[in-house]
Amino acid sequence: MTPAISFEFYPPKTDEQRVQLDRTARKLKAWTPDFVSVTFGAGGSTLSYTPDVVRELRETHGFDSVPHLSCMGGTREEIRELLRLYRALGCTQLVALRGDLPSGMARMGDLRYAGDLVSFIRQEQGDHFRIHVGCYPEMHPQAEDALADLAHFKAKMDAGADAAITQYFYNADAYFHFVEQARRAGVDAPIIPGIMPISNFSQLKRFSDACGAEIPRWIGKRMAAFGDDADSIREFAADLVARMCERLVAGGAPELHFYTLNLAKPTEAVLSRLR
Ligand code: FAD
Repeated sequence: MTPAISFEFYPPKTDEQRVQLDRTARKLKAWTPDFVSVTFGAGGSTLSYTPDVVRELRETHGFDSVPHLSCMGGTREEIRELLRLYRALGCTQLVALRGDLPSGMARMGDLRYAGDLVSFIRQEQGDHFRIHVGCYPEMHPQAEDALADLAHFKAKMDAGADAAITQYFYNADAYFHFVEQARRAGVDAPIIPGIMPISNFSQLKRFSDACGAEIPRWIGKRMAAFGDDADSIREFAADLVARMCERLVAGGAPELHFYTLNLAKPTEAVLSRLR
């Protein structure tokens, strides 16, 4: 099975993290991703890092690096400047998001939702960028309900997005159901599953509580049963995620987008298991 793949990185903040990302990028290059994306901290917390990492991944590693851009906390002028910078760097793709307001930060920004950002990008840059947006098979945690969330997703695609990448999940049926509902609502664009390989289970539980992704109870029980047996946990987690990827691709997923957390091993463990 050789589905098209992409990898997501976050901008390193320390020298140690920079070395780690460099090492990870070198290793993952062997898997010939279609593109790699670089996350963006809402409200400017990694504002100055994302463009640098996008440039580095392009120039040093030869990746088609794709910046994430979130509108939360930013002004129109700041976003306009970033769009110009990314265009000058040679970027032709973006991941456009609302972002989340870091705690303690009061400034909302000029654009309220990701859909407003997509419209703004089209207004400013026409069709230059291929725009990816986020979507949530298990519903965005702040949505009124799943139908309202789907309607907002459809409006975001209609504003000019070309493709969507999902929040991670461990239940393939949630993805298939979401894609079916989106198709019925008139969304034809590719919906790429976001895959989170499991490296640190307690960290994953914290992430999942915050972003509304569900870890099925049976997976938690199996993990707990392994206790401190790290090898068994790694084997089980990689098999589990690889089997889910196979189901997704067999069921029509157009590509796989891996949340790497800047680590090569957990993603490679999944990729090497794909049949
Ligand atoms: P939106 O599409 O704006 O939706 C946010 C909420 O508002 C949803 O509940 C939606 O139903 C509702 N909504 C949307 N439009 C309307 C409307 N017109 N009226 C009323 N309600 C509406 N965060 C970062 O900070 N940096 C990153 O780099 C980053 N990368 C991500 C990559 C992916 C693939 C994904 C899936 C998420 C990423 N996130 C990132 C997290 C994301 O910013 C959060 O999940 C955020 O809470 C929502 O962003 P969004 O773009 O989906 O928002």
